[in-house]
Amino acid sequence: MKLPEGQPPRCPVCGSNNVAWVLYSPVEMNDELAMMIQTKKIVLRPAEQSPANKTYYCHHCGYTW
Ligand SMILES: [Zn+2]
Repeated sequence: MKLPEGQPPRCPVCGSNNVAWVLYSPVEMNDELAMMIQTKKIVLRPAEQSPANKTYYCHHCGYTW
């Protein structure tokens, strides 16, 4: 599995840059991924929760896109 690199875009709803990538489990857990989850750069979701496979999650307003 390839981890995302760089910065996610700003939230189109609230303009916050407190935005995480969304990964859908099951994923292969490793130290780097665990660190990114801990620092809220990545949020993990069960695969069945989002059939649309949205990519980004805004920590500020909760918008997912
Ligand atoms: Zn937002």
